[in-house]
Amino acid sequence: MTEIIAPASLSQPMTDPFGRSISYLRVSVTDRCDLRCFYCMAEDMTFLPKADLLTLEELDRLCSAFIAKGVKKLRLTGGEPLVRRNVMSLVRSLSRHLASGALRELTMTTNGTQLARFASELRDCGIRRINVSLDTLDPVKFKSITRWGELDKVKAGIEAARAAGIGVKINAVALKNLNEEEIPSLMEWAHDKGMALTLIEVMPMGEIGEGRIDQYVPLSLVRARLAKHYTLTDLDETTGGPARYVRVAETGGTLGFITPMTHNFCESCNRVRITCTGTLHTCLGHEDAADLRKPLRASADNDLLAAAIDRAIGLKPKGHDFIIDRRHNRPSVSRHMSVTGG
Ligand code: SAM
Ligand code: SF4
Repeated sequence: MTEIIAPASLSQPMTDPFGRSISYLRVSVTDRCDLRCFYCMAEDMTFLPKADLLTLEELDRLCSAFIAKGVKKLRLTGGEPLVRRNVMSLVRSLSRHLASGALRELTMTTNGTQLARFASELRDCGIRRINVSLDTLDPVKFKSITRWGELDKVKAGIEAARAAGIGVKINAVALKNLNEEEIPSLMEWAHDKGMALTLIEVMPMGEIGEGRIDQYVPLSLVRARLAKHYTLTDLDETTGGPARYVRVAETGGTLGFITPMTHNFCESCNRVRITCTGTLHTCLGHEDAADLRKPLRASADNDLLAAAIDRAIGLKPKGHDFIIDRRHNRPSVSRHMSVTGG
């Protein structure tokens, strides 16, 4: 494996044409998943041929190139990152950038099914916080949302992560007629355990075999309903990302809202995404894509790769424009969320 040293003192954040510093990289390490959440994947998803995927060594090289260019926060996602064979060797290897100080945070978004197995190793590799996606605490609903998932496995995974000393944040997609009513109890459950809850609006990504209009509930409506029973105070806290946070006085916990559909968050966007095939997407809501696999494989040094990254960052779009309504009940972006990892 080609070692790329990323001295903390030399790495300056990349800046896009709109003056936004790019310091956050999300990497989808696989498009595969052990669940089939109905808003994310079709039941009969076709996955990429294994030969198209970057090897773990190539993923490491790519991530390290971004870290050398000033990325400070790296999130591994998927598909389900923990179902990629040997993924822990990548996590362990990337943790050297935490040790050197070049990387400030290494983190993960997971569905939690494999967490009981990997939690303590993740903690050993320097992972201090993770996001676990969980849309309901009702085992029957969980099975119908994920098509075959077992809620108990995810709950055990969350407990294992907490016991290992990893901070857990829960992400839940707000789903019309499915978990809308349950949001207060999901929030109380999370806050009771000291976990923040972030709600996400369904985004029109990828063909999933059904329309989006039946799934979408605006978070403005969810928030208004919550505000009837709870005191919500806006927090200034921002991660440069799409989430806006409130403190809930009654529970003392934090509640986040990710509202790509009702609010534009692009002006402060500090992130880019890489797929498991080495395609760089500089905006979640655009079809724009830059192939980094070719320059990565073309030579053992990183000059071509670095030039391709610079070119792509120089073309990062100003913002996106997701629409879900009756006339636009089609994906705005053809790739599934499991390709870019959200
Ligand atoms: N499998 C992991 C998980 O579920 O956390 C990581 C990948 S998953 C694609 C990342 C996040 O995207 C999850 O929180 C999931 O709920 C969310 N997601 C998937 N499809 C979505 C969609 N169409 N709109 C909004 N969020 C979506
Ligand atoms: Fe898998 Fe995550 Fe998509 Fe659910 S949201 S199908 S767990 S990738």
